Amino acid sequence: MDDVAIAGAGPAGALAAAILARAGLRVSVFDRARFPRHKLCGDTLNPGALAVIQRHADVASLMTNSDPIDGMLLTGPGGVRVRGEYGGGVAGRSITRRVLDLWLVDRAVAAGATLHEQTAVRDVVIEGGRVAGLVANGFRHRARMVIAADGRRSAIAVGRGWSRQPQRPRRWAIGAYYSGVTGVTSLGEMHVRHGHYIGVAPVPGGLTNACLVVPHPPSRRRFGETGSPDVPFARPAEALENVLKRDPELSVRFASARAIEPPTMLGPMAVDTNAVGEPGLLLAGDAAGFIDPMTGDGLRFALMGAELAAHVVIEVLNGKLPIDRGHRELTNRRREAFQSKWRFNRALRSLVSSPSSVNVAAATARVWPSLFQKVIQYAGDCGPAKAGPSQVLLDESRI
Ligand SMILES: Cc1cc2nc3c(=O)[nH]c(=O)nc-3n(C[C@H](O)[C@H](O)[C@H](O)COP(=O)(O)OP(=O)(O)OC[C@H]3O[C@@H](n4cnc5c(N)ncnc54)[C@H](O)[C@@H]3O)c2cc1C
Repeated sequence: MDDVAIAGAGPAGALAAAILARAGLRVSVFDRARFPRHKLCGDTLNPGALAVIQRHADVASLMTNSDPIDGMLLTGPGGVRVRGEYGGGVAGRSITRRVLDLWLVDRAVAAGATLHEQTAVRDVVIEGGRVAGLVANGFRHRARMVIAADGRRSAIAVGRGWSRQPQRPRRWAIGAYYSGVTGVTSLGEMHVRHGHYIGVAPVPGGLTNACLVVPHPPSRRRFGETGSPDVPFARPAEALENVLKRDPELSVRFASARAIEPPTMLGPMAVDTNAVGEPGLLLAGDAAGFIDPMTGDGLRFALMGAELAAHVVIEVLNGKLPIDRGHRELTNRRREAFQSKWRFNRALRSLVSSPSSVNVAAATARVWPSLFQKVIQYAGDCGPAKAGPSQVLLDESRI
């Protein structure tokens, strides 16, 4: 029997596995994919996310496979442009998820976790009225504690009734890598338009990541179906190309650009969670809730959420916390750590979905650019890197 079984070896699952294995626990982590694998993302690790990783790993090799991100360029309707640098020597990184996620998985394995690739988790094992393992590829893997870090559409969180896709917002993302984009700098870019936004970021190797996020009203038709009255584009690839071609800021810069492979699409993105676990089970990363990637801080939430979940697991297995209180304790700690940033993100997201609010924000940005610089720094989680609670505990704990 394992001490901990983890569903999903994305950033949240891999970091939790690394922390727990380093604490001396027997950890198995299961992923349906084989690494390296692609994952649709803006590919920017903000300074706060980088700081979380640095608490647990030597990032020298991560640095050589990534480029610095020094801040954000924000553009809005009517030609508004605000450049905000993180400043003070603070930077994030641009790194493809193929590289980042493999790097994190390697850290987990090096710490002693057992990785099971191409192994889909379908359910949890229930014993004595609590979660006591995972069902993966049809086999029962018993464990003292389980972490579900299997992403937005977590088979476990949805299956146990802890998360669901809400009716609103229903936004879809379409992203691709391009060569030949001009005017790319070391800034991540967010181009907010009426009804949609486009993230643009440099990625190592001279490529550019472009991600379009569009709303899609509830409809019986599938996104991209020809003739859909809801979507003015025939196909996702064309949707992205059309938006880039027509955009006042980006059309010139993407004029000679070529997508190096067909775009990837996912959605609806939002996931609402009503609990972050139950006795024996904790949720981490996007499995514990996700709205959309507007603020580029999903990875920081995922990594910090993994840290918090790992901390709770260690306390439960140490006997410091009763197993039936673990998920409640995680709820409280997540609220304390994330609440103000959640509020900020929700406010930004509702601003973007209302054309009149976008106009007001654009006008404000023109007369008060320093306010927007502060917004960019806050979005980037540029605060001082505090010692994570799990790090403090790990230094003390030997299980
Ligand atoms: C379009 C877009 C752009 C984004 N851009 C950024 C950005 O620039 N910066 C940022 O910080 N965040 C960004 N995010 C958010 C970020 O991608 C997520 O928050 C992050 O990937 C969450 O990590 P995770 O480990 O929780 O989940 P994931 O990265 O989704 O990993 C989940 C893992 O679980 C595995 N899995 C899924 N189901 C099963 C199953 N049944 N059994 C076994 N394994 C399973 C998957 O294969 C995967 O490896 C973006 C998100 C989107 C959608």
